[in-house]
Amino acid sequence: MAAKRSDNDRGPGRSNMLTKLVIATGNAKKLKEFERLLAPLGIDVLAQSAFNVPEAPEPHCTFLENALAKARNAAKHTGLPALADDSGICVDALNGDPGVNSAYYAGPHKSDDDNNAKLIANLRGVANRRAHYTAVLALVTREDDPEPIIAEGRWYCEVIDTPRGEGGFGYDPYFLDSELGLTGAEMPIDQKGVRSHRGRAFAKLLEALKERYP
Ligand code: IMP
Repeated sequence: MAAKRSDNDRGPGRSNMLTKLVIATGNAKKLKEFERLLAPLGIDVLAQSAFNVPEAPEPHCTFLENALAKARNAAKHTGLPALADDSGICVDALNGDPGVNSAYYAGPHKSDDDNNAKLIANLRGVANRRAHYTAVLALVTREDDPEPIIAEGRWYCEVIDTPRGEGGFGYDPYFLDSELGLTGAEMPIDQKGVRSHRGRAFAKLLEALKERYP
């Protein structure tokens, strides 16, 4: 059963302060990245798994629509403000694929390793390795919030053939930040937090939050 809020738990609609935020993801590593990013704000960060929030369908062709669907779903089931991200890797030589389908590139129940193997196979013999991660963040104060905060970030890279590093998740071992000479999997989490698509989107979200809740 989803936990219900009390009057004291209410989000900014009532108190004009953001004191609690549910992170609308089932990905433990994404959750960790958000916890690090949100730590300085003194907001109580809650995992949607603590409320047994069911996975939101992500049927849309844009990151934006999927991020909003996830945030609304979490707000609906918890009665609390919710933050979601929809993200993926867009490869120039593959016309932006896998894009919004990044999590399921190799099929619905496949692993990160399967997705990476498919990506590298599709890029065999391809010289143009330019790609980027995109993240769209959506923060809603309630399910029917008419003014969600939306922020987008990109992180450019080159896709390499041989994996490097043990950290991160998803496509990170093949995602080379050419400026730093490190893959996403070789970077400490705090450095990824600054460089990454999610980190960049989060910086924009913070600006919007400061304006709304001075
Ligand atoms: P989502 O959870 O539906 O937004 O799917 C995001 C997918 O994009 C993940 O499962 C990964 O495959 C990929 N992805 C997004 N962000 C990252 C990242 O920071 N590192 C590696 N892969 C990522």
